Amino acid sequence: MGAAREPQANRRASITDDAGRRARVRTQFGVSTYEEVRPLASTASRRPQEQVVRGGSETPLLSVQGLSKDFGGLRAVNACSFSVSAGSITGLIGPNGAGKSTLFGLVSGFLVPDEGRVFLDGDDITALPPHQVFGRGLCRTFQIPREHGSLTVLENLMLVPPNQLGERFWNPVLRPGAVRRQEREIRAKAMDVLEFLTLDHLRDEYAGTLSGGQKKLLELARTLMADPRIVLLDEPAAGVNPSLMARIRENIVQLNRERGITFLLIEHDIPLVMGLCDPVIVMNQGTKLAEGPPASVRSDPRVLEAYLGGQHGVAER
Ligand code: ADP
Ligand code: MG
Repeated sequence: MGAAREPQANRRASITDDAGRRARVRTQFGVSTYEEVRPLASTASRRPQEQVVRGGSETPLLSVQGLSKDFGGLRAVNACSFSVSAGSITGLIGPNGAGKSTLFGLVSGFLVPDEGRVFLDGDDITALPPHQVFGRGLCRTFQIPREHGSLTVLENLMLVPPNQLGERFWNPVLRPGAVRRQEREIRAKAMDVLEFLTLDHLRDEYAGTLSGGQKKLLELARTLMADPRIVLLDEPAAGVNPSLMARIRENIVQLNRERGITFLLIEHDIPLVMGLCDPVIVMNQGTKLAEGPPASVRSDPRVLEAYLGGQHGVAER
């Protein structure tokens, strides 16, 4: 995880715009987007983005500290703490009901924790709304894909980038050239993403007609439209046929190696996790049970116990 992992296609730089506001330029898949750096209280002392040493930094990219979440009387996540290093493909496993998907909800802003904090690159992002967490480069997929079924695959991707000029009703009238230019850029970026994931042949299909596996890939594609720094994948291989699964796996490895994207991956397919992820974090009953390289986790008696009590074997599956 050295400097070699610095993403080539995921460059960032800060600029000051005409109004004197600081903005961040992010370039990925050949498209530059400008986003205003929001002056959140917790980011006042933040180091400029370009000074962050990826992969070698002591600050973990994602840090979860003492997170808890109750649903009525049920404590779904219970004082859970762990961190994810920049550049890693970290696995998150655990029996059904362990609290993994709830944890993703808490980290990505879809759920508000009862206790604990979430830090992204040292910034406190606890309970920021999902679109702000997303805008900071933390993107998640859902265990059950959430595509827009009556839109095409390409349209699903083109919806993702925020702050599109055409969304302001006066811009198409007052700034038609700028609106068209931005739309062309977003379309080109969407096509790049589709080609990268070999989904380009499906671009004009309605998303609702895709197979379960293709919908999972579309979820991954949607995260890539947002220039993610870290992608949280919730069971990307569940219900996916083996050849599509191999492709999803290849895509994850390639995105990690070539574009420096960090992954946190929930998966029940133990061989997939053990072959792809390092470290592996094990959750049970809402909290972290174990963490380490795949070999140590799979032989950990506490992990075996947790799995033997459930429906998934961890040793040989
Ligand atoms: P996992 O993803 O590890 O299988 P979940 O995070 O989905 O586990 O669920 C953890 C526990 O929280 C389960 O007992 C589940 O039934 C419960 N749970 C999850 N979401 C909700 C919710 N929205 N309302 C009530 N209970 C929930
Ligand atoms: Mg789940």
